[in-house]
Amino acid sequence: MGALRDHGGSNPFGGSPFEDIFDMFFGRERPQGGEPGPERGTDLRVALEVTLAEAATGVERRIAIAREETCPVCFGTGAEKGSAPETCPTCRGAGQVRYSRRTAFGSFSQVSTCPQCGGAAKVIPHPCVECRGSGRARAKREITVKVPAGVEEGTRLRLPGEGEAGMRGGERGDLYVDLAIAPHAIFSRRGRDLHCEVPVSMAQAALGDEIDVPTLEGPVPLAIPPGLQPGATTTVRGKGMPSLRDGRGDLIVHFQVVIPEELTKEEERLLLQFGKLRGEDIKPQKKTLLGKFRSRLS
Ligand SMILES: [Zn+2]
Ligand SMILES: [Zn+2]
Repeated sequence: MGALRDHGGSNPFGGSPFEDIFDMFFGRERPQGGEPGPERGTDLRVALEVTLAEAATGVERRIAIAREETCPVCFGTGAEKGSAPETCPTCRGAGQVRYSRRTAFGSFSQVSTCPQCGGAAKVIPHPCVECRGSGRARAKREITVKVPAGVEEGTRLRLPGEGEAGMRGGERGDLYVDLAIAPHAIFSRRGRDLHCEVPVSMAQAALGDEIDVPTLEGPVPLAIPPGLQPGATTTVRGKGMPSLRDGRGDLIVHFQVVIPEELTKEEERLLLQFGKLRGEDIKPQKKTLLGKFRSRLS
């Protein structure tokens, strides 16, 4: 690789060893004459995690990236101030050289990339000190990423022109931001809908009640119907996630009926009385015995 090409290995589609071998056997050649054209800058990829609430409302985030920029000293020419790139003396500006080779299978001629200029057709006698002749310099940049409302795990945002600077006047690459959504303590997401579990007491489930259920915008009042069964769900319309395509999803509340693990004497007496009223003959068990029973089983 010559001076101009030192930092040019960024194009993911060019210059693979396989291509070189292919060229060697099938005689495919670069376009003749002159220097290679502009080369587009490499695309960059970064990962960005946002909260579920940020995914719901959209958010602007500043991210720091390191990327190749056009060298501010030589403005991308790679040559020191007052000097200029010159035609490569080895290939006389062709960018490639032709060898004659004798092998066990006979002799054949082979075209190779010029070893001095690396195919760039020009050499830089006095390279820019700042970028050592590459014409580009690595720099840290802060970039604002606008995350739209309704993004999902794995949503990829494209920021055109925010990738690396091109070579020899080529256009800039793009920046891709791969989004991840941080797990939420209360809500889980299925498509546009949010799901959450809300505990209610035995008495609340039997009698019905007015409670507050959490949403991404804060608690909203909800009436529990009397006779609520364990695992019952209710839908709070429009409190799910916005969608990039459709309208906003719903919040699905899953009720967990909580059976008390400890009872006071008075509570036990009332529950027995309650059972008796419903014609049940209950023989209450001692908590300690039950605990021993359970530990023997496990
Ligand atoms: Zn420079
Ligand atoms: Zn050359």
